[in-house]
Order: sequence, then C-alpha cells, then structure tokens
Amino acid sequence: MKNMTLEHIAAVCGGTYIGNEADKTREIQGAVIDSRLVEKDYLFIPVRGEKVDGHSFIPSVFEKGALAVLSEEKLENPAGPYILVENTLDAMKKIAADYRRGLDIKVVGITGSVGKTSTKEMIASVLAQKYNVLKTEGNLNNEIGLPLTIFKIREEHQVAVLEMGISEFGEMDRLSTMANPDICVITNIGLCHLENLITRDGILKAKTESFAHLTPDGIAVLNGDDDKLCDKKVVNGKPAVFYGIEKAAKVAETEEGTKTLAEKTVYATNVEAVDLTGTKAAIHYPSKETGGEVTMEVTIPIAGEHNVYNALAAVSVARELGLTCDEMKRGIESVQTIGGRSNLIHKNGITIIDDCYNANPVSMKASIDVLSNAPGRKIAVLGDMGELGAEEKQLHYMVGEHFAGKGIDALYCVGTLSQEITKAVRANSSATEVHHYEDKADLIKDLVKEVKSGDTVLVKASHFMGFPEIVKELTK
Ligand code: ATP
Ligand code: MG
Repeated sequence: MKNMTLEHIAAVCGGTYIGNEADKTREIQGAVIDSRLVEKDYLFIPVRGEKVDGHSFIPSVFEKGALAVLSEEKLENPAGPYILVENTLDAMKKIAADYRRGLDIKVVGITGSVGKTSTKEMIASVLAQKYNVLKTEGNLNNEIGLPLTIFKIREEHQVAVLEMGISEFGEMDRLSTMANPDICVITNIGLCHLENLITRDGILKAKTESFAHLTPDGIAVLNGDDDKLCDKKVVNGKPAVFYGIEKAAKVAETEEGTKTLAEKTVYATNVEAVDLTGTKAAIHYPSKETGGEVTMEVTIPIAGEHNVYNALAAVSVARELGLTCDEMKRGIESVQTIGGRSNLIHKNGITIIDDCYNANPVSMKASIDVLSNAPGRKIAVLGDMGELGAEEKQLHYMVGEHFAGKGIDALYCVGTLSQEITKAVRANSSATEVHHYEDKADLIKDLVKEVKSGDTVLVKASHFMGFPEIVKELTK
C-alpha cells in the first residue's frame, strides 16, 4: 500500500510506534481485522468484540508474516513491531481516510435508503467496461466494512465504487470522511432506520452529511424523482445531476402536499417489463462533448422498475467519467443479479423470486409489481419489515393496499406486523386467497404442499425474519 510505512501510519492515527528502526520505513502490503486473512507484510488490526478480543490473535499473525499490528495494550515480547493506539477502530478509520487521500483514483460513494448494493453492482458493471474497478464486496458498507474495502485499493485500480450505509446521525460524516468521494450517488430517501433518524427529513439530513466530504470538484448524482432529493439542486456550488423516469419535472403528492420534482438530466422513457427476466428502457442523456441528446435502448437483465433507476444512476456516473454509449450499454446488459435481491431461481417448474435479503415499504412494493408481471399462478410470501418506527403498522397496511388489485392469486404472511398487510388485502381485494401464520414453520408446511409447477413465488421480508429458509425449502 503506497506510502503506508509504519512510521507514517503511527503519525496518522496518533499512535506510538514500538519496534526497531529498520522496520519503521517499511510499507504494509494490506490491512485486515480478521487474523485468518493476514498475509505477508500485512498490518493486523485487532478489534475487541463481544465474545472474542482480536488482540489474542497477535502472536499468530506474526507467525503468518504480518509486518506489524495495532494494539490497545502494551505487548510483552512481541514477535514484531506494533503501534500502540487508544482505540483500534478509530485508528483504522484515520488510516483509511489518509490512505484514500494518497490514491490517484476516482471514488464513487453510494448511499440511500434502498438499492445501494444493487446500484453499486450496476455502477461497477458499467465502469468496468473502461476502468479497473474495485467495488465493495457484498454489503460491507459500515464503519468497519468501508475502511477494509478502502485498504483493498491498489495502484492498478482506477475507480473505487463504495457502498455507504448508515443508521444514525454522524455516521455518514464518518464514512464519507474516509471515502472522500468524487461522485456521491443517493438512490432515495425512503423509510428505513426511522427509529434513529425519526423522519424522512432526518434521513435526508443524515445522508447528505456526505456532501461536505466530496472532493473539491466532486458532484452529487441524485434520484430526481425523490421528493426529498429533488430539492438539492446545487451541491457545493455545483448543479446536482438528477436522474429519473421521464425528463419532465413531475408533480407528486408528498407529505407536505403537492410538489414539483426535479427536471432530469439523465432519464428513461418507454420502460417495459420483459416477463420476469428483465426490463427494457430507452435511456437519454446529454453528450458531454456535443451537448446533443444521446439515446440508448437497453434491456436490463433484472426485473423491476427500480432497476431502471439503478441503470440511470450508472449512466449518470459513467457520463461523468467519460464512458461511451456502447460501454454503458454493455455494462448494464451484463450486470449480474445478487443473491436475495430480485434473484430468479427456477426449480421443479416453479419460479422463485428470491428477494428475501431485506425489505422496506419501497422495495416491497417494487417486488410486488415484479410478481404481478409473472405468467401463471402468482403467490406472494411476505413477512415483517423492521426498523420502521412509530408508523410501522400503517406502513405495513399501505403495502397491503398496494398489493390489492395487482392480480396476485395467493398471499402467505408470517409475523405480527404483516397482519396489517393481510388486513389491507382482505379489505381491498376479494380475488386473493389470504393466509396468515404466527409461525414460519407452519407457513412452510402449507406452502410446500400448495406450490406447483407453473407457479411464481415471491419471497420477501426484512433480514431478521430469516426468509432464506423459505427459499431453501422451496428449492429442495
Ligand atoms: P442495505 O441497507 O441492507 O445495504 P441496500 O440499500 O444495499 O440495502 P439492496 O440490497 O440493493 O439495498 O436492495 C434491497 C431491496 O431493494 C432488494 O429487494 C432490491 O430488489 C430492491 N431495490 C434495489 N434497487 C432499488 C431501488 N433503486 N429502489 C427501490 N428498491 C430497490
Ligand atoms: Mg446493501
């Protein structure tokens, strides 16, 4: 890792270097918190967990060839040099922030209430058509995952696409201090983490803490169809790049009343579902060179209108980073789905829409829309959505109202809150067969008996409901 000598690291994190003079000027080759991932000349950062204290692995990492370790305590006869710090996690964040600033790389930071990982995958797939891209693995988007991702950036990387997820005020400040993005993408201001952030305005404030940490030329790429984001027309003195479906500013009903949203720079028209396998759209954007409008017909290989938004975010970023229309199209059309997120599984003639990774009202409604496009019998298996604060019941009821009238044949729900979904469906649609269970095992028993070849089954709930188990049973 360029310039990351032990002496430099000690200075950056305010620690004390303890070791011999010769090692002081050596550069680390990587930095990890998991002792099993230590390689030759790595820095090991021990973290105190609830069950295990990472400091106990210090002897073993030296055996594996670590160059040095951080430590919150004085070490007796260590097998190599160490940097004594007050708090290893705080030190890790400072080291990551410093390392990022020494890199000649473009950083794209992605945040928002819903769709961060999906948007990250889309952006990375597009940018990889021109650049050597390092992206956040999986969902490592928090104050531990982000610095560890930053430590993976090497000189050959040209762009880093980093997911940033938060649940409280101040967290985005800390994340974006590390990431120092050149482009900050915000997917939407939805209804997650209402418990800590209280209102959507609270979420907006928390997410936009990132703007203060953009690079001097940095820009914001925002969903212009979001009634909160559309107000952020100028960010750090520069116009935000808005994306959305249709160019024109829409008029929307919002919490505060009727409101005009943003006019979009990058926009989609002719959005059309291709059964369950994808979505077609025409994407338009002004050419950076001529200013003339470029139109690109794409087939996004993942179902759901929300993936059009993710493709639009990718085009907005790619346009800033100089990709051609062909490169953008190739990147969008080759994006891979990720487990648990609009992931189609075919088994025994049954199609499963595995969306069980997580849920909130926005993504729940989007998935219901996808199911409504399925051929054959349509079955929804839905569970509780967490972290919705005081209005949790009402928000579940609203999902049920959205569900009614979508032509879905059967609904299987489990969980206390999802009773509200079933109530709303019963009140608004007589065409759907509605079942509610106290216990997931009972639901599974009935569901596996009921599902037959030709059916499409959507499986979706918040993470804590453990719905991957249902997908597993259906795919046995
Ligand atoms: P987390 O906070 O857990 O990291 P995330 O913001 O990364 O979540 P994803 O994992 O990408 O979100 O997607 C969560 C769910 O939202 C999935 O069911 C996915 O299909 C759906 N989704 C993806 N993109 C969008 C979008 N732009 N708008 C609404 N829903 C979306
Ligand atoms: Mg994520």
